[in-house]
Amino acid sequence: MPLRILLVEDEQELAGAVQTVLQRQGHVVDHCPDGLEGWTLLCSELARYELAIVDWMLPGLSGPELCRRARTSGLELPLLLLTARAETADRVEGLDAGADDYLSKPFAMEELLARVRALQRRQPSYREPVLAVGPYRFDPQTGLLEVSTAGGLVAIPLAGKEQQLMIYFLENPERIIPGSQLRHQLWDLHQDPVSNVVAAQIRLLRRKLAAHGLPSPIETVPSRGYRFHARLPGEP
Ligand code: CA
Repeated sequence: MPLRILLVEDEQELAGAVQTVLQRQGHVVDHCPDGLEGWTLLCSELARYELAIVDWMLPGLSGPELCRRARTSGLELPLLLLTARAETADRVEGLDAGADDYLSKPFAMEELLARVRALQRRQPSYREPVLAVGPYRFDPQTGLLEVSTAGGLVAIPLAGKEQQLMIYFLENPERIIPGSQLRHQLWDLHQDPVSNVVAAQIRLLRRKLAAHGLPSPIETVPSRGYRFHARLPGEP
């Protein structure tokens, strides 16, 4: 779902790159290089931004100060701080100022897009799109997975983690996804790093599909990860 995004960043080159990447995703991005100007734009009734990405060190007004003003004024849009500072104390200061998340420079554009998606999902008005790949169709609103088979449509209600796993697979079909990546995406970092939580969850999902008479679309690729096949066995 496209967002209307305000980008406040004084490094022209970085700003240009971020703007391009976000626009490619369909978002509408306004950019300004000055904190004070950014604040004025944020307050404008006309723009109604749905997300702001704000650099820490800015001319005019600092990023954290901009966040603080936004929260004091009752603006509720998600705020993502960009920071070249890696120290924990600074991060805490940024979050205390009202930022929802921060990203340390330098960052990969993939990481930026992932943070934007995560912030978007937290919005109360956000509706996750229905995912349809091959014979699989999953509606995050209802948690129902539908699979078209030769014998007809099979509907399977999925539970919390099963849903997240299915969304991730349907967003990345036919790709080998390392178990570590799944763990990083779907479980919080405080979880025991040596636990086989991913393997266990995948086993449960396979069992659930099998209980509905379906073969497993999830292939274990030894020592590399998992691959979701977006077609049923026997189909071309
Ligand atoms: Ca800066």
